[in-house]
Amino acid sequence: MTTQRLLVLNAGSSSIKFAVYERAPDPGALVTGQVENITAAARLIMRPADGKAETIALGQTDHVAALQEIMTHAVIPTGDGAIAGVGHRIAHGGLEFTEPTRIDETVVAKLKTLEPLAPLHQPHNLAAVAASHRVFPDAVQIACFDTAFHRGHPWVNDTFAIPRSYYDKGVRRYGFHGLSYDYVTDKLQSIAPDIATGRVIIAHLGNGASMCAVKDGRSIASTMGFSALDGLPMGTRCGQLDPGVLLYLLEHEGMSTAEITALLYKESGLKGISCLSNDMRELEASSDPAAKEAIDYFVFRIRREVGAMAAVLGGIDAIVFCGGIGENSATIRANVCEDMDWLGLQVDASANAKNALRINAGTVPILVIPTDEERVIARALVAALPSD
Ligand code: ADP
Repeated sequence: MTTQRLLVLNAGSSSIKFAVYERAPDPGALVTGQVENITAAARLIMRPADGKAETIALGQTDHVAALQEIMTHAVIPTGDGAIAGVGHRIAHGGLEFTEPTRIDETVVAKLKTLEPLAPLHQPHNLAAVAASHRVFPDAVQIACFDTAFHRGHPWVNDTFAIPRSYYDKGVRRYGFHGLSYDYVTDKLQSIAPDIATGRVIIAHLGNGASMCAVKDGRSIASTMGFSALDGLPMGTRCGQLDPGVLLYLLEHEGMSTAEITALLYKESGLKGISCLSNDMRELEASSDPAAKEAIDYFVFRIRREVGAMAAVLGGIDAIVFCGGIGENSATIRANVCEDMDWLGLQVDASANAKNALRINAGTVPILVIPTDEERVIARALVAALPSD
């Protein structure tokens, strides 16, 4: 009997995050990691579930070579190396893809047409799909979409107030981080079923950050819209911006669309305001007033959205924090919930300091749930594989 493995890939411009799973009904990761800095001095970082993290220098590489290194160092040592399926995190599923989808040439062609809607994510996601077909030609390949969780959201959260013809062309609010929201809502069903059927705000606060208002497990509103730029400020992305600023940059600063794209995706957010770093740990450790202002703006925008989402939901039954910042920064969580007794939100300082699952002192549960987008993809992969 072969010990088949599943591989989950999340590819960015210069990195491929991966997770290797045993083929099992609800698989747990055997090893997670990433290949970083792909085009230059690449390195493979591996974190086995039951061992010590290891880093291997790879030198210059590309997506195909990076997958081969993952195979050699991370997959084979966990079994005999047979990969039954590869699951890909794909940023944009557009209007059509609302479920995990088996990848073939037609699907790839359709997903390519969505590249302009997620220019800094989709092309890299699809590069990994192409590389994966070369390295694992016999494996089932599926795509799981960050937009899918939101596709059933109400029309008022789907549209912009511009002429309707653009809506018909697909200029809509899609929303992202759907795999994370999927994981959290599913987890709520097992750990707090009473909350899972209620009105929940989920704050996914990582390098990318967004919030989702969830009612009975379904997305009602989200802070991200047409692109992954909208809503909360992020590590390097601007978050909500008056469109008049874009007109100003185009007309009066003489900037090209490429320059504006780089500015809004890579130079803004926490990095842009602090002039220091996109990394929350560095900002929290800094005594620079600009670092404090960047954190203050981040917290302010989250608090605004808590109020807006509470209004949209007609009250809240719980708030959940996840993502690197949401799971680890007691300060951010405390500041977000400060003086929110009017919503029933009050933080228990001691539980908060420990990143405990429940950190509320008040009536409304405040939860910290480590998210696991890869696991959502692995489960979808198991469901998509033909039974033996
Ligand atoms: P990504 O969106 O790239 O998956 P993550 O979810 O890993 O990002 O989140 C990365 C962010 O989490 C960084 O800003 C990092 O500084 C922050 N972070 C991680 N650990 C901590 C911590 N202990 N305190 C504050 N921020 C943290």
